[in-house]
Amino acid sequence: MHELSMADAIVKTVLDAAEKNQAEEILEVTIEIGKLTMLNPEQLRFLLGVLTEDTLLEGAEIIIEEIPVEIKCHSCNYAGSTNLDDSDHYLMIVKCPECDERNLEIIAGQECNVKNIRIEKPE
Ligand SMILES: [Zn+2]
Repeated sequence: MHELSMADAIVKTVLDAAEKNQAEEILEVTIEIGKLTMLNPEQLRFLLGVLTEDTLLEGAEIIIEEIPVEIKCHSCNYAGSTNLDDSDHYLMIVKCPECDERNLEIIAGQECNVKNIRIEKPE
């Protein structure tokens, strides 16, 4: 499952960073998820809850920010956000909203990053 491997990678990244910073507790984690990753935020949140049991991350607040898709069109030079045709969830089609072409570059929407971690350090 897509979400499970992502959740696993996120937990590892955060715990690794926390360890390097000698964290006693992790208070808050902000995760960025591009719309094009097709990750389901609710499912991801649920899996993170399961995977973080008995770790430093248990009880931390998980903030998930969804990043909208942005494109640059090579046909008409449109640059900006676009809506996805997600009628078929397994095949999202990105098209230019101006000229309907698919000759474009995706600028944003493919992210899956740990953006920020707030930790508690010993005095
Ligand atoms: Zn265009």
